[in-house]
Amino acid sequence: MSKINIVLILVAFLFINCKKQQEKDAVLIETTEQQVTEIPSLTVTVETKDFIFPVGKPDAKGYYNAQGFGKNNHLGDDWNGTGGGNTDLGDSVFTIGNGVVISAENLGGGWGNVVRILHKQNDVLYESIYAHLDTILVTEGQEVNQGVKIGTIGTANGSYLAHLHLEIRDKINMDIGGGYSEDTDGYLDPTLFIKTH
Ligand SMILES: [Zn+2]
Repeated sequence: MSKINIVLILVAFLFINCKKQQEKDAVLIETTEQQVTEIPSLTVTVETKDFIFPVGKPDAKGYYNAQGFGKNNHLGDDWNGTGGGNTDLGDSVFTIGNGVVISAENLGGGWGNVVRILHKQNDVLYESIYAHLDTILVTEGQEVNQGVKIGTIGTANGSYLAHLHLEIRDKINMDIGGGYSEDTDGYLDPTLFIKTH
């Protein structure tokens, strides 16, 4: 075997090892991200003094909660226009408080377009999640004031009659989850929360 061949084999060996290490690092980072309960890169600069309802602001006038928190193990509220059916398709969805946008993206499946917002009140962090949106009007990292229009009521690409699925969590940046569960750890009753905060 010539010297050049040996050198080539050595270089290839080093490269492969290096790549393996990079892959390992990537997996580690992913795992850490999933376990993160606070988001160091996002700071809430403006605390919110209170919270309002995300439809028919500030008090959900013209809307009703078709499936409250806990009903059928539901982890949020389902806001519908009193007109029924798809009469609320395209209606405005508002931020429930001041905050910063954690993410704004189409998650597909039963979720559709989803906006997640981080709030701070009296030094405590909360997260609000607005799902099945027809349109998204904010972007990741954007600071938003209470009552700002962030999107419109949708059907999650035809999965449902139009409604807004709203979740409020006190564990920040958990997995999006499934919308229903017996395990309510980290989830708050949105209507009760808004009325008492
Ligand atoms: Zn729902």
